[in-house]
Formats: sequence, C-alpha cells, structure tokens
Amino acid sequence: MRDKYDIIVVGAGPAGSVTAKTAAMRGCDVLMIEKRQEIGDPVRCAEGVAKPRIKRHIEPDDRWIAAEVKGSRIFAPDGTSVELSEDVSGSEVGYVLERKLFDRALADAAAIAGADVQVKTRATGLIMEDEYVKGITAMHFGSKVEIRSDIVIGADGIESRIGRWAGIDTTLKPSDINTCAQFIVADIDVDQDRCEFHLGSAVAPLGYLWVFPKGNRCANVGIGIGGNACSPGKRPIDLLQDFVRTRYPDGKIIELVVGGEPASGPIERTVANGLMLVGDAAHQVDPLTGGGIANAMDAGSIAGDIAASAIAEGDVSLERLQEYDAGWMEDFGKRLNRSLAVKDRFVSLTDDDLNKLAHSVDGLDFTTMDLFGLLVALIKKNPKTLWSLRKMFV
Ligand SMILES: Cc1cc2nc3c(=O)[nH]c(=O)nc-3n(C[C@H](O)[C@H](O)[C@H](O)COP(=O)(O)OP(=O)(O)OC[C@H]3O[C@@H](n4cnc5c(N)ncnc54)[C@H](O)[C@@H]3O)c2cc1C
Repeated sequence: MRDKYDIIVVGAGPAGSVTAKTAAMRGCDVLMIEKRQEIGDPVRCAEGVAKPRIKRHIEPDDRWIAAEVKGSRIFAPDGTSVELSEDVSGSEVGYVLERKLFDRALADAAAIAGADVQVKTRATGLIMEDEYVKGITAMHFGSKVEIRSDIVIGADGIESRIGRWAGIDTTLKPSDINTCAQFIVADIDVDQDRCEFHLGSAVAPLGYLWVFPKGNRCANVGIGIGGNACSPGKRPIDLLQDFVRTRYPDGKIIELVVGGEPASGPIERTVANGLMLVGDAAHQVDPLTGGGIANAMDAGSIAGDIAASAIAEGDVSLERLQEYDAGWMEDFGKRLNRSLAVKDRFVSLTDDDLNKLAHSVDGLDFTTMDLFGLLVALIKKNPKTLWSLRKMFV
C-alpha cells in the first residue's frame, strides 16, 4: 500500500467495488479499503435483486446466484395474495444472490481493473487541509497509517462516519431506520419460483416480512420493521420467530442476521470538497422496499466516472463534484422520493385498508404492468384511500 493515491474508496460493498472499478478503468490510481478481514462476510442482506439492474455492472455467474425467481407474491393481513410477474416486482426480485461470493466477485473486478484492495484496514478519520479532504487516517493490520488522496469516497454503509467527518449531516432518526432480522431456514418446503412479502400489523408493523428462496429447500426468511414500531415482545426477532414457528415448524435455522436499512429517502448533499458518498452511506436505499444493492452499484458507477473527470481537470471542489448529486438524482433519486411518498402513505394504512386494496385488484393482469402501472391501477380502484398519491402517479 502506497501513501498517496488519486482516489481512496472506504468500504468494499457493492457501492465501493463498482466505484473503485469504474475509476480504475478511467486510469485513476485507486485504493479500496475494507475494515473486515473477509469481503462480503458477514452478510446483512436478503440478497434479492432485479436481473437487469445487476447486468448493467457484471456478467451473471452461477457461482454467486443462489436462485432465480419468476416473480413475487404479496400477502395481505387476511392471507389474500396478489401475484406479480418478475418485471413488476421491483428492484429486489429476480436473482437471489450469495452475497458473500457476489461482493467478492465485485471486489475482484475492481482489482482486475487496477485498483489496490486492502482488507483489515479501517478508516479512522479524514486528513483535512484548507477545508478540503486530503486523505484518511486508518488502522491497517493493527498499525496507524496516513494515506493521502485527491478524493475520498465514503462507501462505508449504513454506519458511515465518513460523511459526518466531512461535515455532511447523515444522522438517521430511529424512525428512519428499518430494523431487520433474518434467518436462513433450511429443510423447508418453499416455492422456489417466487419471493414472498407478508404485510400486516401482527406480522410486521410498519414494514414487511419476506421469504426469499435460495434453492435446496432453503430460504432467507426475514423481517424489517419501522424503528418506532419496536416494543418489548415485538422486536423483529420475536415476530420472526413467531412466523417461522408457525409457517415452518420443522425448519432448521442455520444462520441469523441482524441489521438496519436507512429508510429516510435521499440526503440532499452527498459531496464536499474532495469527498463523495455512495450507497447506503448516502442513504441511496429504496425507502419502501429497503432494496439498496442495485442503487449502490448505479451510484458507484456515476461517482467513479465523475471522480475520474474531476481529477483529470484538477478540480475536486464541492461545486465540481455536485455533478454527481445531479447525476444520481436524475438516474434513480426521483424514484426514491416517489417511494418515500408511497411508503409514508402505506404505513398509515390499517390492516383492513390493506385487505381491501388486495381484494380490489383481484382479477387484474399484472403480467403487462410495471410497478408504476400497478400503483396507478391501485389508485384508480381505491381513489379515496390513496388520494394523497394521485398527483404523483395519475
Ligand atoms: C436485513 C437486510 C436485508 C436486505 N435485503 C436487501 C435485498 O434483498 N435487496 C437489496 O437490494 N438490498 C437489501 N438490503 C440493503 C443492502 O444490503 C444494502 O443497500 C447494500 O449492501 C448497500 O451496499 P453498500 O456498498 O452501500 O454498503 P455495504 O454493503 O454495507 O458495504 C459497506 C462496507 O464498508 C465497510 N466499512 C464500514 N466502515 C468502514 C471503515 N471505517 N473502514 C473501512 N471499511 C468500512 C463495511 O465493513 C462494509 O463491507 C438489505 C439490508 C438489510 C440490513
């Protein structure tokens, strides 16, 4: 590891690896650091992602695809289910990944493109000079180091500190974090063709519960609930255990994952002088579904490209880097804002409202609609309940 690079990327998740690869391919000297000793492990994810969104960045490979699904099934609180084709099911449905292998494949691609990759290297602070970020301080295999760069890119996930160190407010209120728990449940009868989403105040207050098949009679069964819905006896893990005991009484729990998803919608500014944020660090997660893999990769590609151009021009000022803010907002940011509006409306619906919505679309053909079309159909059938969304969708 040298003591000066063009770009330092902090965090080797999907956002960091795609950023590092893109900038390295543009000829930049890139260092990507990861605090853990193994990239991709432990996994904090249900591992679902839409196929077209992945194919933009990497050739599909059977080694990191656990399962391919054909669509999804959404269960209302009374058990009524609505079946959606893959195209309509959103950015979390298509492949169910093996994230341990997927994240490593993305980091490999960054390394092959020319980026230096260092594990067990944790950023501990920023080097600041004349109001510009000029590099990082880090612990590298237990030793303190200083590494300088023209741009630092924070891809350090939901617990990101890079933004705050540079004066960007990335604080999340408890109500803006989806609290999640997930089991890998083995030896169960599970529909291997569909991802399931279960709604309702008893199953998952202010959130949803998911079953994502992983092949071999195995599935990721998890729950994400609004931070302010947690109460004693109603923690995500309690609700998940109730569901698994009832639905899969003979299933064997072979792994537990806990984690959080930012559900606040996008933050306004993700750049500072010599600094950019990507992925969960920039809250680029869909507030409705909690899906963030595809957005993290798209953002990484935009960030890597703009960082390379800014360095070539010798201007890494906030003003120059704001092209990144405009770029990702144009690409998927508006969609996040729409999702936030839909989420805000849906979390205020009662179980009765949700049941009525599910009944109202009985008989509609969803094979020809996208998610947007589905929402329009729902609003048209339920104008009173979904009135506040009319302006946005109809
Ligand atoms: C339970 C759960 C289920 C989910 N399910 C889905 C799903 O099915 N589909 C989907 O699309 N999204 C899902 N998500 C969201 C998805 O996991 C994230 O949006 C995605 O991983 C974001 O990628 P990222 O690269 O921004 O961050 P991360 O993948 O979190 O990577 C950040 C990396 O930075 C490293 N790091 C942190 N601090 C430092 C430091 N100081 N120095 C060096 N390295 C550091 C971390 O170790 C980590 O490797 C889920 C999230 C949770 C919690």
